[in-house]
Amino acid sequence: MANQTYIFGPCSAESREQVMDTARAIKAQCSVPFIFRAGVWKPRTRPDTYQGAGDEGLEWLAEVKNTLGIPVATEVATPEHVTAARKAGIDYLWIGARTSANPIAVQAIADALGAQTDNGKAVLIKNPVNADPALWLGNIERLEKTGLPVMAVHRGCNHQPCWSMAHDVRTARPDVPMLLDPSHMSGDAAQVPELLKKIAELGLDGAMIEVHCCPEKALSDNAQQITPDSLNGLNLFEGLTSLTISNNLKQPQTTSNNTELSWLRAEIDELDKALWDTIAARMDVSRRIGEWKKAHHITPLQPERYQQIVERIKDKGDFALRIWEIIHKESLKQQE
Ligand code: PEP
Ligand code: MN
Repeated sequence: MANQTYIFGPCSAESREQVMDTARAIKAQCSVPFIFRAGVWKPRTRPDTYQGAGDEGLEWLAEVKNTLGIPVATEVATPEHVTAARKAGIDYLWIGARTSANPIAVQAIADALGAQTDNGKAVLIKNPVNADPALWLGNIERLEKTGLPVMAVHRGCNHQPCWSMAHDVRTARPDVPMLLDPSHMSGDAAQVPELLKKIAELGLDGAMIEVHCCPEKALSDNAQQITPDSLNGLNLFEGLTSLTISNNLKQPQTTSNNTELSWLRAEIDELDKALWDTIAARMDVSRRIGEWKKAHHITPLQPERYQQIVERIKDKGDFALRIWEIIHKESLKQQE
């Protein structure tokens, strides 16, 4: 458990006061070294939302570093961001999920980092927004060519964990530290404590957690940020006597059988959830079809359509047909 990395801080740097208040409050809760995070260039989905403080936010982060002695991290999405962040003395840089989906953008950032490998500190790469382990691995390789240490951050897709993708990357590169980002993985502060249990279960290397001095007033991701006070209740540091910020690549680990079983079970849980979500979505469409049929005076069971689907599923074998029969029966019930 030693050599874990913890990164805490708000989604966005919003003002000097918010940044300093949050950093001070986290410091008061943390007896172990941590990195303070805040995004200053925010890759927001919609244009009329808070886009970040820009270069001014870097000054607030530099103040955290210089007055509180806490190393700081921010997200970079372009080579210009790298230059500005390096100039401001930002220690750690991470590449976000949207940028991670674009290899040309990641390569441009890697080129900029390679030209400015001055601080020797790790660069972090989140998984891409789409569940593509090869793309994530490729990004790790692009960044490794800079000579800087690289860490992976599993932040999931669409506010869900993506254990299968993380397991693939972990298996291919056990030497690359992997942090958990339970905040973006769930989009929900209430789910953060439960998700953090996966660090021990899966043998992960720490976490990046969004922490805001006043989450309800946050200008971005307000539903998922926890308060500095609640850090204490997470039992993150229990038994940790020598938490260090790891700048170096870790030794390749052979995952114990137990850890491997935990990864596979996490994948099964994820697939079960996807199954139920798909069935629920299917029932929803089925109910809408039921309303249409009612309005057009058509009975729920249409033998021709039924036969058409049976023909299609028959190829998949007896098990598939049995499952489909159960789903179809429930569907008809929903249309009554
Ligand atoms: C963030 O860390 O605030 C962020 C934008 O994350 P992601 O790239 O995972 O969405
Ligand atoms: Mn965020």
